[in-house]
Amino acid sequence: MKMTPEYSKAQENMHAGIISSSGFLGNDSRLISDIICDDEEMVQVLGMNFTEIANRLKFFMEKALNGFGNPVTVDELWEVFSEEARGVIPCPFEDGSFKKINVYVKKKGFKDSVVFSELGIHLIEKHHFFQGKDAFFRLDPEKIKKILF
Ligand SMILES: [Zn+2]
Repeated sequence: MKMTPEYSKAQENMHAGIISSSGFLGNDSRLISDIICDDEEMVQVLGMNFTEIANRLKFFMEKALNGFGNPVTVDELWEVFSEEARGVIPCPFEDGSFKKINVYVKKKGFKDSVVFSELGIHLIEKHHFFQGKDAFFRLDPEKIKKILF
């Protein structure tokens, strides 16, 4: 995949302190086109697709929002809750703004939990971008498969 001017601008916007204080890249020094390419491959290897993943995240977000900040049990296996802040956050690809909603998901029997935002869902669904390695909101495809399904 090639870096387009749109991708270069998005990558600039992803650095810490531009759109969000922690940024979207973590310690990852790869071009976002390479990050996206590697994760697309991983999604395929895992036998998943982006619509399926985005729909699953939306499902958990909806359940969590029903709790208004309190934990909600989903299908006896997951515990979810949401955190909302005022205002919106723009997509680094500059194609929209999203509510500042964070969703936390824990699965029974697993130590790892998953945290994602409304913007994070959009980044995956529209841009196939799970964020850089070690980024606070990185959603690792393998972890998604393990914890959210
Ligand atoms: Zn976008």
